[in-house]
Amino acid sequence: MSWKHDAACVGVDPDLFFGATEAEAKAVCAGCPVKVDCLIYAVENDILHGVWGGRTPAERKDDRLARRNIVKLFKRPGPPPGKALKTRRDRDRLEARKKLAWGEPT
Ligand code: SF4
Repeated sequence: MSWKHDAACVGVDPDLFFGATEAEAKAVCAGCPVKVDCLIYAVENDILHGVWGGRTPAERKDDRLARRNIVKLFKRPGPPPGKALKTRRDRDRLEARKKLAWGEPT
């Protein structure tokens, strides 16, 4: 999980993400540059507790059900950073990543 090094929650009390402080946790996640990676990790690993990727467990349950196909897309590595998106699948992954990050319906 190399993305964890860039997380906005580095140094933040973990209890913030596993208590009754969802709004505060979400505020931290809102500005996190690895929010999508974090959310995908939580969804793929069926993490049932805490705020991950700015989403509560109940919200992630919806993600798992409604966005199963999107998560599958992320299992395939995309092109290296800075390289062109060469395939339709790469473009689909990028679009899916945008939708997942913004919480739009699929
Ligand atoms: S999205 Fe939230 S929980 Fe995930 S790494 Fe970023 S700050 Fe931490």
